[in-house]
Amino acid sequence: MQHPAMQRITILGSTGSIGTSTLDVVARHPDKFRIVALTANSQADLLFNQCLEFKPGYAVMLDGAAAAVLRERVSVAGLNTLVLSGIDALEQVAVLPEVDTVMAAIVGAAGLRPTLAAAQAGKKILLANKETLVMAGNVFMDAVRASGSVLLPIDSEHNAIFQVLPRGYDGNPSKNGVRRILLTASGGPFRNTPMHELQNVTPEQACAHPNWVMGRKISVDSASMMNKGLEVIEAHWLFNAGADDIQVVVHPQSVIHSLVEYVDGSVLAQLGNPDMRTPIAYALAYPERIAAGVAPLDLFKVATMDFTAPDFERFPCLALAYQALRAAGTAPAILNAANEVAVAAFLDKKMPFLSIPRIISAVLDAVPVNAVNSLGDVLDADAAARRAAQQQLGNTNR
Ligand code: NAD
Ligand code: MG
Repeated sequence: MQHPAMQRITILGSTGSIGTSTLDVVARHPDKFRIVALTANSQADLLFNQCLEFKPGYAVMLDGAAAAVLRERVSVAGLNTLVLSGIDALEQVAVLPEVDTVMAAIVGAAGLRPTLAAAQAGKKILLANKETLVMAGNVFMDAVRASGSVLLPIDSEHNAIFQVLPRGYDGNPSKNGVRRILLTASGGPFRNTPMHELQNVTPEQACAHPNWVMGRKISVDSASMMNKGLEVIEAHWLFNAGADDIQVVVHPQSVIHSLVEYVDGSVLAQLGNPDMRTPIAYALAYPERIAAGVAPLDLFKVATMDFTAPDFERFPCLALAYQALRAAGTAPAILNAANEVAVAAFLDKKMPFLSIPRIISAVLDAVPVNAVNSLGDVLDADAAARRAAQQQLGNTNR
């Protein structure tokens, strides 16, 4: 018989950085969590090993050929795991009646549909896929409210803010005595790189983050500080804060994960070692606390903490994100799509690092901004921005 308090979980993107950290925390508490479904893009080997260890009812691969490989191996191993493939299957395992909680840890716009489906189905959502909120913030938040979903942020900054907001925070900053949100940023690997060297930095340099080990897309976003820009937009939707009420603070040690400033002058912060298992464990067990395997913070080793204002000239992507948030409507979806195309081209060594903001800026100028009334409006803007970004890429390489 099932333990009544057992939380049954789908992990979307289980083979990624967040996905594997989630499974690490889950494995520490077999009495509390059970994995119902695991999903991945194409890494059949890793997903198979995860199936062996966690024995999920379902495993989904986006890629059909990879799913066939996995199905064969699952069958030979005698596992009772149903292997599915395709985007519809991702949605299917996000809304299963036997699932309580969905960890949304797919990278990029690909995460939008299954994450939205989980919200519409009223699941508890652990949200790592920030692109969902950037693209479709109002559609997603409306779905969360309509279904009564519990939404818990996994992004370390937003998880920190969530932890230091007053209990029972109702989404109205001024009514709850909140003056500002202070979003910390490490500044990434190029915080002090001479400007003239930025043109020639490689994907390997961009992905070598000083404090965090992450997937390649978010690593490049951290290097350009687009990650912080996306997080400003994410904070806007999660906490109902305006662009002027979210201050980015560069804090290279990544020990303070963010802060909330109150009208009485109090500033509350959440601190910890930079390890995503902390926010993951917090969200998994919320409102309780469980062990996450994270080393205790040694303040004597930290010794000093630095804070500086962001440099918008060095990091034009951060300014572009504020611009898109202020423009509202489909502008953040356009920003996100252009960024995804540009980052992929940079990772494929098809264009230099500094072309990332140039392409995004050109796409924001070229694609008209519309109101967002439905998911269709978001998907149309996403498609138009990807076309415009491809066109810009062609121009860059000519
Ligand atoms: P990752 O690249 O390591 O993993 C991505 C996962 O998504 C993999 O399991 C992959 O198989 C799957 N995936 C990729 N493309 C897919 C597609 N088209 N369809 C279905 N599945 C697909 O990425 P990550 O670093 O774990 O980041 C995941 C999300 O979490 C991102 O939105 C990122 O911004 C956010 N996030 C990550 C961190 C971190 O520390 N890694 C921190 C905060 C937020
Ligand atoms: Mg973050």
